[in-house]
Amino acid sequence: MDFNRKTPCVLLLTPPMVQLNTPYPATPVLAGFLKEHGVEAHQADLSLEVALRLFTPETVEEAVRRLPKGRVPRKLAGFAANARGYCDNVAPVVRFLQGAAPELAWRFSRPGALPEGPHFRELTPDEEGDPEETLLALCGPQGIEGRAKIRASLFLDDLAGYLSATLDPDFAFARYAEHLAVAAPSFDPILRRLEGPASYIDAILDDLVAEQLRRFHPDYVGVTVPFPGTVYGAFRIARAVRRLAPGVRTLLGGGYVNSELRDLTDERVFDYFDFISYDEGFAPLLGILGLGPRVRTRVRGTSPADVANGKCAGVAPEPCRVRVSDYTDLDLGRYLSLVETSNPMHRLWSDGRWLKVQLASGCYWHRCRFCDVALDYIGRYAMPDPRQAVDAMLAMRGATGIGAFHFTDEAVPPSLCRAISDEILARGEKIVWWGNIRFDKGFTPDLAARMAEAGCIAVTGGLECACDRLLALMDKGITCAGARAVCEAFADAGVLVHAYLMYDYPSETIAETIEALDFVRGLFADGCLQSAFWHRFALTVHSPLAARPPKGLVPGRPAKPRHGRFALNEISYTYAGGKAGEIIGKALSLATYNYMLGRGLDMPAKVWFANLRKGATWAGKP
Ligand code: SF4
Repeated sequence: MDFNRKTPCVLLLTPPMVQLNTPYPATPVLAGFLKEHGVEAHQADLSLEVALRLFTPETVEEAVRRLPKGRVPRKLAGFAANARGYCDNVAPVVRFLQGAAPELAWRFSRPGALPEGPHFRELTPDEEGDPEETLLALCGPQGIEGRAKIRASLFLDDLAGYLSATLDPDFAFARYAEHLAVAAPSFDPILRRLEGPASYIDAILDDLVAEQLRRFHPDYVGVTVPFPGTVYGAFRIARAVRRLAPGVRTLLGGGYVNSELRDLTDERVFDYFDFISYDEGFAPLLGILGLGPRVRTRVRGTSPADVANGKCAGVAPEPCRVRVSDYTDLDLGRYLSLVETSNPMHRLWSDGRWLKVQLASGCYWHRCRFCDVALDYIGRYAMPDPRQAVDAMLAMRGATGIGAFHFTDEAVPPSLCRAISDEILARGEKIVWWGNIRFDKGFTPDLAARMAEAGCIAVTGGLECACDRLLALMDKGITCAGARAVCEAFADAGVLVHAYLMYDYPSETIAETIEALDFVRGLFADGCLQSAFWHRFALTVHSPLAARPPKGLVPGRPAKPRHGRFALNEISYTYAGGKAGEIIGKALSLATYNYMLGRGLDMPAKVWFANLRKGATWAGKP
């Protein structure tokens, strides 16, 4: 802590593990906001930093040293046999995926240039397939860089698996110790792990925190937790801050807090974090720093009711505007562009640097019965001025040199898409963007073409159960035919489409699920859907379904942990009509995985269900 400083210094940290190709948006947007208010703000992405420390020759050598003596388990045999290859290539692969050594494409594009472990099987579509033919078909004969990126990414995927097996079983790309925070009514498992022996990654993280404290001398350290796979890392960071700089105040916020920690009563959490802030972090941060009223913030001794409607309840939200994120402390050239799939839509999540922008607050529809519409981030909708939104995007491009944007809204409405597109075109700007929408009939062919002209390359949206009866039941406000028309409009405009799909909705029959898969297959076959993902239905406490369950659905009672509650979001339930088995989800994923690679599009959907029962593999032919 620096006692000569007049304004507080805030250090904002992203814990491990989140995506590695681009910064997670919370710290840049909050840093920009704090600087606007004259606060000294810094940030560090400890997710990227952990990954960059793991993917080094030294760490690989340590992993080799930890290989079991004598007979090596089968899953590590490839690593043991090619240890030198992994050691020698890890640093050049990282540099290449950071975009720093494009000439290495000529080397990595060649088969056998890198050790080829289990993930390289992805390149072989079936028993007869030739991996090189597959790559050539996917990237084209001139696609040297594309082929090299896929091989280099698969090399890191393999290595991540080997490091996890030798150094820290809780490590995976995009999550760390996730099991401790998924459906976690009690804080006990996290606490036990925090106070137990440090794992390999724990030690790296402790060291990184010490480094950041020495670098910035903050008065406050804020940590964001977007999802369960970052929660343990966030508490590990707070633990390190407590031990290294006990006078520094710690704060926690983010998506996991907003949806899972609203009913928190376990006071032991406050041994690690002084403040927990809910919903949009802007006003709570000012309150914590003494620059505004204390709002939507929990401290030791408060209760969930205090945040919901009591003494620290929210003030009226500011008018909606797009924030200019600040990337000053983040070296964007160190992020890794990973291409684990040839599917052009699917790779957008891991390839390339996208500046994340939230246009509107909340969801303009906010009616779906399975969705957390009772929460502020969905239920409170406000739209920005399109001119101000484009001004903010251009300011971010000016500061970073990057003109590629990912709109992270719950669902950008057609009217806002049109207004943003008109504004971009009126200014003659050349930028690229993609984001979440609803398959709303307002997305006409004319609007899709306008969006494409303004730089829209892809949209993602919820097609959910892809069944008219269920779409009506969940109040999704769309039909299959309407969604197909929207997908066709985007396809005709050259815009890629990804669909979020759901199965096992209460009352859904197996016949409806198979029909839904057939509908999805048709979209892929006709070129109006490029990628999709199936989620199993989950009942959450903040949804209308849990608040007013339909006949036959009985929500379970949440457990009551001895020391008070930690997280609460998804709840168990029984449904009189039964539930789909695991095999249904596997069949849906297997089919969709193949559709995304252009395979199996001429076969009826039911084949995948019958085939899986016979023991087919994920990448197998039906
Ligand atoms: S599921 Fe999507 S469209 Fe429906 S209310 Fe939630 S955010 Fe809005």
